[in-house]
Amino acid sequence: MHKLILKPGREKSLKRRHPWIFSGGIARIEGDPQAGESVIVCGADGAALAVAAYSPHSQIRARVWDWIIHDIDAEFITQRITRAAASRGALSEGTDGVRLVHGETDGLPGIVADRYGDTVVVQLLSTGAERWRDAIADALAGLTGVVRVIERSDADVRALEGLQSRSGLLRGVAAKGPLIVVEHGLKFSVDVEQGHKTGFYLDQRDNRLALRNMSRGKTVLDCFCYTGGFALNALAGGAAAVMAIDSSGPALQAARANAALNQLNGTEWLEADVFKTLRTFRDAGRTFDLIVLDPPKLAPTAAHAEKAARAYKDINLLGFKLLNPGGMLMTYSCSGGISPDLFQKIVAGAALDAGVDARIEGWLHGAADHPVALNFPEGEYLKGLICRVEDQAP
Ligand code: SAH
Repeated sequence: MHKLILKPGREKSLKRRHPWIFSGGIARIEGDPQAGESVIVCGADGAALAVAAYSPHSQIRARVWDWIIHDIDAEFITQRITRAAASRGALSEGTDGVRLVHGETDGLPGIVADRYGDTVVVQLLSTGAERWRDAIADALAGLTGVVRVIERSDADVRALEGLQSRSGLLRGVAAKGPLIVVEHGLKFSVDVEQGHKTGFYLDQRDNRLALRNMSRGKTVLDCFCYTGGFALNALAGGAAAVMAIDSSGPALQAARANAALNQLNGTEWLEADVFKTLRTFRDAGRTFDLIVLDPPKLAPTAAHAEKAARAYKDINLLGFKLLNPGGMLMTYSCSGGISPDLFQKIVAGAALDAGVDARIEGWLHGAADHPVALNFPEGEYLKGLICRVEDQAP
């Protein structure tokens, strides 16, 4: 196998089992590894530390497959995928959407696979993943109950790896009708071809249920509603009225269809920019009992954190201002570049500037099928807070 020799002192993070080797830490390469090929990563003293997938164009020059040195082959990939799928265990009743493979956390760097009923949608986001595309597709197709595997390798991060977008059917036959996923008893149509990521945000599954359980009799505002995940849960939980905002027409069309699918009427869907609309609401004196803020990834990396922090503060400040006394803000960040700690500070600053007293009544995370490896804290991208503003009525 080719070798990648680190500079002195640069083996430290590897010894803590962090799975990324950055280009700046590499002293030299022995051999001529091609994109996605396996390399043995060695310390400056020559000691072999890990076997990794080589990525010549990315700053993350290699991603670790294993800490034991051996050849990486289709059997290894199959074992890892089978192990990842098995670790998801039983889903709760009334749910058939689950993340089967969550990248680095499952020892499968750059590989994401979501299962919607009998369909698996996979994203191959690194050269190593690309190299093993057939083995990955076969392993996913071989899981019990899976009839098709669809690829959605069209995320921007592929470009950083020097890879082109690829999408389409990988295994099995195309579905006849629309794909419906059931989540805690609610049905959602998933557009696996055009939808975001693999089509649906499975990571928010349990947080949507949490909202359902808070919504009875409340007026609810769902900001960045996408296909209606939070809004429909609010209605299912007995909300008095729901308004949902998204800037994407197709997302709102899907949301309306999902409402019909569940016979949950009563949401006012608004195609608009959330930042502007919240200002308009503030100026008009509109208020709500419960507000959800689930914006897109505003800071993909720490380099974007400062600008993103201002945007997070902006919407959270407005959110606090639009709450009735005793109202609740359910606020999220899915930015890898914003730590949970920083997010809490931003929200605290927003409450202060909004002139409200608020307390945290819940810390929220991605669902259990989106686990975070202790040696890979970057995996903790989704964090949320439930904040209650004090009831200032006498
Ligand atoms: N809460 C959703 C997921 C939100 S994803 C769920 O549970 O499924 C983020 C959404 O924000 C996307 O649908 C995107 O269209 C929308 N969006 C991005 N920028 C926006 C903006 N400035 N105003 C309104 N919506 C926006």
